[in-house]
Amino acid sequence: MENITVFSHTDCIAKDNGVSHPERKERLEVLLESIRNITELNISFKESPLADFKTINLIHPQSYIDELLSMVPESGLIGLEKEPYADTLLCPQSKEAILRACGAGIESANELMSGLTKRLFCAVRPPGHHAETIRANGFCFINNVAVTARYLQSKFNLEKIAIIDFDVHHGNGTQEIFYTDKNVFYGSIHQHPLFPGTGMEAETGVGNIFNAPISSNVTRDEFKEIFDTKILKNVDLFEPEVILISAGFDAHKRDPLAGINLESEDYYTLTKNIVEIAKRHSNGRIISFLEGGYDLQALSECIEAHLKALSN
Ligand SMILES: [Zn+2]
Repeated sequence: MENITVFSHTDCIAKDNGVSHPERKERLEVLLESIRNITELNISFKESPLADFKTINLIHPQSYIDELLSMVPESGLIGLEKEPYADTLLCPQSKEAILRACGAGIESANELMSGLTKRLFCAVRPPGHHAETIRANGFCFINNVAVTARYLQSKFNLEKIAIIDFDVHHGNGTQEIFYTDKNVFYGSIHQHPLFPGTGMEAETGVGNIFNAPISSNVTRDEFKEIFDTKILKNVDLFEPEVILISAGFDAHKRDPLAGINLESEDYYTLTKNIVEIAKRHSNGRIISFLEGGYDLQALSECIEAHLKALSN
């Protein structure tokens, strides 16, 4: 059984989006509580450091970061987008939360490449996969998974990184960032139509982007089959040196933001199949990132299934 390291920080819980916002602090509280209750796995908890700007700048220019941080309010909330998606909000605690969320990925990469642990999970918020090079959106500000991918390449001389995204929403940010980069594979299965509206099958980048848009009436078995044939088969051919997962749990049947009907146990299967590919090509190396997932009970159950599968 593989050991798992979970990176998180209380600053990520402090990020406030106001009442009745789906991306709320209870998501992370419930998720961490669920992880603490898993007794049959070898799980270590570690604190995320603050990400350094030099590493963030591998993806986001400092001018964007400066502007973003200059908008952090002293009290209350500030929205960064126009209607109808005016729900990407900065609060007084945002700077620390954003930098800790990104720092979790960076420090996970360090631990992964030290050989200490092969399976890591970043239990963080805000999430990252909607954040584009110079645009915050979809509750995301810095693209945590993208920064980690570039950091792995630049610091550890790795060439091929795969990012697999099973969040129910398309990771428009991750796709935009790597759209012309043949050394970063991005594969996403997501409900369509749904926010953000991107992620059509014809969006293929330079042969490195694989999108599987699905309608809300697919069955659980169809979902898993599409994930295998449209995403995992292509990851297998890509032969990545490390696999990163954008793990959103909002394709669960209980999720309030989408209409896919996965059960909690399906996240075991999805993850297990990723692990098999990582063992085949990537020396078993996986870093997974919390993205979406807005039903607390579902989050609690899905994270258990995800980590159990990751320990294989
Ligand atoms: Zn999502």
